Amino acid sequence: MVVGVAGVAGKAVVDFLPGKVCLIGAGPGDPELLTLRAARLIREADVIVFDHLVSEAILDLSPPSAARIYAGKERGAHTLPQEELNLLLVHLAQQNKRVVRLKGGDPYTFGRGGEEVEILFEHGIPFEVIPGITAAAGVAAYAGIPLTHRDYAQACVFVTGHLKDGSMNLDWPGLARPRQTVVIYMGLHGLPVLCQKMIEHGLPSDWPAAIVQQGTTPHQRTVTGTLATLPELAHSARLKAPTLIIVGEVVKLRDKLAWFESGGH
Ligand code: SAH
Repeated sequence: MVVGVAGVAGKAVVDFLPGKVCLIGAGPGDPELLTLRAARLIREADVIVFDHLVSEAILDLSPPSAARIYAGKERGAHTLPQEELNLLLVHLAQQNKRVVRLKGGDPYTFGRGGEEVEILFEHGIPFEVIPGITAAAGVAAYAGIPLTHRDYAQACVFVTGHLKDGSMNLDWPGLARPRQTVVIYMGLHGLPVLCQKMIEHGLPSDWPAAIVQQGTTPHQRTVTGTLATLPELAHSARLKAPTLIIVGEVVKLRDKLAWFESGGH
């Protein structure tokens, strides 16, 4: 075992040297869900490149002198094309800045973090990746829906419900399984297709399902129903992005476990 200077097994905690990019997960919304390491690195940044899901309170941790660059990524409004963004990170690092790339949730969960880091690697830019609490974990905790539970689900699958040309190319037989929880990111627009496909592939139409808007924030709202009823219920609730869909029997536990929306925070 290698013991670093800071006394940590493995690699020592290194300083945020100029010319390095730290790809940081900002968590799902509640600023207090940020890791300590993320907070420390943000405080040392010269420039922050951030996505729209990152809260103001987290950005405010950066020094007043730090430049803030908005990278966008709202549905239908990609401010910077991914290729330009990747190169922007390279250029900033080459200018010897301490670059923080802040993404909502976890950078390696539907965050294109892998693509950004590959480009850094190809250009020989030193980088570090700091995980964040992904929306599924944050929403599960704050909406009172455990992702696994010995009585209901031994597996949990995360998928993207983003529609491509109006359809979704997912492994439907693999998703429509009992004793499993399915978490769908970016699924609001595809919700009717999603529910219909899961029923077609064998799940009962009264299988529990929930959709959670702006989880872990004061605007969190949860709509629960079944595969048959959720699309209509979600539509009439006029939910606002971002939303996360959870399908599975664990949704039933919410009746007992929903502490956050009842003001327990
Ligand atoms: N890297 C992020 C996911 C980025 S994709 C993560 O690990 O969480 C963006 C999608 O994440 C949104 O469309 C939505 O489905 C989900 N999401 C992110 N934050 C959310 C939140 N606070 N509440 C509900 N869903 C959220």
